[in-house]
Amino acid sequence: MKFDDYHITERIKEQLRKLDYKRPTDIQYKAISPILRGEDVLAIAQTGTGKTAAFVIPILEMIQRRKNKQRIDGIKCVVMAPTRELVVQIAEVFDTIGKKTQVKTLAVYGGVEQDPQIKKLEKGVDVLVATPGRMFDLINQLHIQLRRVDYLILDEADHMLDLGFYKDIEDIKKYLPGKHQTLFFSATINKKIKKLAHSLVSNPIRIQISPKDPVSKNVEHSVTFIEMNDKRFFLEQFIKDEKEAKILVFVRTKVRAERVRSAMDRVEIHTETIHGDIVQQHREKVLNNFKTGKNRVLIATDVSARGIDIPDVDFVINYDLPDEHPETYVHRIGRTGRGKKKGIALSFCSESEKEMLSKIEEFVTKKIKVLDISKDDYHDIMFSSSEQADSIASMMQEIEEVEAFRKKKAGKKKAKKNKKK
Ligand code: AMP
Repeated sequence: MKFDDYHITERIKEQLRKLDYKRPTDIQYKAISPILRGEDVLAIAQTGTGKTAAFVIPILEMIQRRKNKQRIDGIKCVVMAPTRELVVQIAEVFDTIGKKTQVKTLAVYGGVEQDPQIKKLEKGVDVLVATPGRMFDLINQLHIQLRRVDYLILDEADHMLDLGFYKDIEDIKKYLPGKHQTLFFSATINKKIKKLAHSLVSNPIRIQISPKDPVSKNVEHSVTFIEMNDKRFFLEQFIKDEKEAKILVFVRTKVRAERVRSAMDRVEIHTETIHGDIVQQHREKVLNNFKTGKNRVLIATDVSARGIDIPDVDFVINYDLPDEHPETYVHRIGRTGRGKKKGIALSFCSESEKEMLSKIEEFVTKKIKVLDISKDDYHDIMFSSSEQADSIASMMQEIEEVEAFRKKKAGKKKAKKNKKK
């Protein structure tokens, strides 16, 4: 089935063609028609499957249809998502696919002043995409009214629960009109999520994408064994070998992120970092630089990168394996091979991370391909590093200086002796 075969407005189809979306992805195929029929949906799907457009396309279509008939004020659709990045990204998908429609979308999130958001709300919004914290703040201050909402969407519900929003989400119903359609998306499922989902949806269409092997088929992933202290040399080599590529590097902590950046600085490789200590404005700049290709190597921690959709990431490097949760591995490598594109992920695994590697393999239900590095190659990579070359050069210079100093000293002593004679 092609998008051209759907009963959706040409205004949307035109944009889909511009984005080069020809056919729906699996989740889009399974979700778009039921959503258009007005059914509730409970979908287990990760980012990278095309799940955003799976709800954006039918929601835009339904709101536009209503707008064709009559003028209706007020928010018609609320999308809740766990992070500011994800909120911005979802709003962008609404804006891009809905460019030719009359549907107005606004992203609302915390960490920035609320006044500009309130001003935009006052101008009239059809689709509100929001993080739960800021949204409930604005509801409590009566800046947001949800009485006219027809569609409620929860994206990455599992992640919102991780952030402690269970009660808030459960309570959202209080603010909505009795009759509305709910679309519930989660990357993982457990008892708690099921309970929450069932308190919100009624008689839903269930969709589960690739439950057995959660890794997208478009991602080729492998692991290579590198000692912790040597990892930077291998990253340097990798970046130098892949001169044109867009590379997303995952590390465990913000301190590690900054350390890796400094290590790359030392060998004159420009990288940027994104983690919890980077202020909002700077995060957006960093993300934008990476998106536009101004910077091609982004070093990220998990929290800051979850859900982020950056097109055309050629490689994901797991510089560190994830700390605790094996599913993080799947989220990380899902940053490449988006939509129908192919992607490559490579993990640097040290001796101390082998236990985690086994847990990940258990989670993805298969062995991860091992890229063997021969002893000679390992040695060559270590010693071809500019840092090593620099330190060898500076070591040589130091030896020469010491030698010169010694000679000079010896020369002076000799001269003194000769004088005495
Ligand atoms: P998502 O899972 O929503 O984060 O989407 C992942 C990526 O897939 C995004 O970069 C989308 O632009 C892309 N995408 C979504 N739907 C399609 C489609 N039907 N054809 C090609 N690419 C798509």
